[in-house]
Amino acid sequence: GRGNSGEIGAGGDSNKAHFVFIPLMFQGHLIPTVDTALMVASHGAVATVVVTPSYAARVRRTVDLATAARTSPSSPVDVRVVDIPLDPAVAGVHDNIDRITPEFGRGYFRALALQREPLERHLRAGAAGGGAPYPTCVVSDACLPWTTELAASLGVPRLCFFSMCAFCVLCQHNVERYNSFDGVATDVSVVVPGLGEDMRIEVTRAETPGFFRNPGWEDYGDAMERALAEADGIVMNTFVEMEPEFVAGYAAARGMKVWTIGPVSLYHQETISLAARGKTTAIDADECLQWLDSKEPNSVVYVSFGTIAHADPKQVVELGLGLEASGHPFIWVVKNVEIYGETISDFLQDLEARIDGRGLIIRGWAPQVMILSHAATGGFVTHCGWNSILEAITAGVPVVTWPHFTDQFLNQKMAVEVLGIGVSVGVNEPVVFRTDNKNIVVSRVVVEKAVRSILDRGEEGEERRRRARVLAEKARAAVQEDGSSRNNMLDLVSSFKGE
Ligand code: UDP
Repeated sequence: GRGNSGEIGAGGDSNKAHFVFIPLMFQGHLIPTVDTALMVASHGAVATVVVTPSYAARVRRTVDLATAARTSPSSPVDVRVVDIPLDPAVAGVHDNIDRITPEFGRGYFRALALQREPLERHLRAGAAGGGAPYPTCVVSDACLPWTTELAASLGVPRLCFFSMCAFCVLCQHNVERYNSFDGVATDVSVVVPGLGEDMRIEVTRAETPGFFRNPGWEDYGDAMERALAEADGIVMNTFVEMEPEFVAGYAAARGMKVWTIGPVSLYHQETISLAARGKTTAIDADECLQWLDSKEPNSVVYVSFGTIAHADPKQVVELGLGLEASGHPFIWVVKNVEIYGETISDFLQDLEARIDGRGLIIRGWAPQVMILSHAATGGFVTHCGWNSILEAITAGVPVVTWPHFTDQFLNQKMAVEVLGIGVSVGVNEPVVFRTDNKNIVVSRVVVEKAVRSILDRGEEGEERRRRARVLAEKARAAVQEDGSSRNNMLDLVSSFKGE
């Protein structure tokens, strides 16, 4: 070890827990995994985060800024970032998925699986050569079945990590387990079985796609399911007070322990660390804060669709016109502006000129949690990625739900039907990752109405806001002294100590 672990007894680093985190390198998976690594490390464990080279610098920066604020000689925060290159022999693989493409496919997952041997060699050599102690636990993204063999070969337990809510994974699990859609026509909805007597949630097949259940991926989906069924437990970015029955239900359905440790974004307390989460922002954090400071409390709507969803140019224009028509201040994150070409950049420039100061357009990466945490932010138009929904909940901000694909439809149901903190724009059909079908899915009128309704000061709006605030308080309490997530974190760290 680094010899900085003063409180460790005669065994030195050898009895420390050492968690090896293996994320999927999509931001929605990577960001919460890094936060979780920071959390276990702040409770005295060693954490290693395994990435590919193009992500190493980014993750190191987040880790360095986050730990700079926390590390002291008496409580070191020991997070190591290891990069293992992808095998160049696997055709068509590139190590940059900031822009996901339809061609992005099986090759990438094959190349990731080939990280196993070099990674194992690295971990063993580290332990033998005075680097990080021998691993005591592998925490793998649930989407990476090959880590089962890694953990077995190292002789350590393997936990599956989900940045998803228990409601979502339980719904998906139950419709598969009870074959709910057998003999049911495509667009007919069924009630999710096994959620408890007074919990009636209706879903279509498209809203509960399951993991890798799309054509061409069946065997991968099966491998993932097997690897999940064989796991030694589950780590989940949620908190039990928000969804106690679903956490218990999922643990029972899987027959394994579920450590709920979220919201992991609360690890970051300082602006510098919050703003550095994920990637360098396209806007200066202070400039963004000054803009927000100039607005009334709960008056601004924040609009962002995560890292993968990519809107059709016509939809971008339609959304912009809806925001303009709403009359409310907004922060709108538009990513990959350069792929859209001049029509869109001109449109955005003209829009900015027309609304003069009322709208802030961020072209690229936004300091999302920092924005959501600001008192001026009163609503969030979101694609319903789980991180985004949980970050909104953590900040006490109600949401306008506009799901695009995968688990986002279930997360919408969680926000709107289960928690009562959302208004839906009414999208029921998934769109493909990148649409060029010149379709407008949500009209400007619907955008305008949804923004007005989420910022509404009337009874309904206030009630939603109140529910969001109550959840935010519970979220905070969960990670504080004696909170459920904090206790789970302590339990996790002590459960996987070395010999
Ligand atoms: N995010 C951010 N700035 C951006 C876009 C995204 O900080 O401009 C973060 C966001 O806070 C969240 C993650 O990236 O933690 C996106 O995850 P989510 O599950 O919401 O959606 P995904 O990108 O996986 O669809």
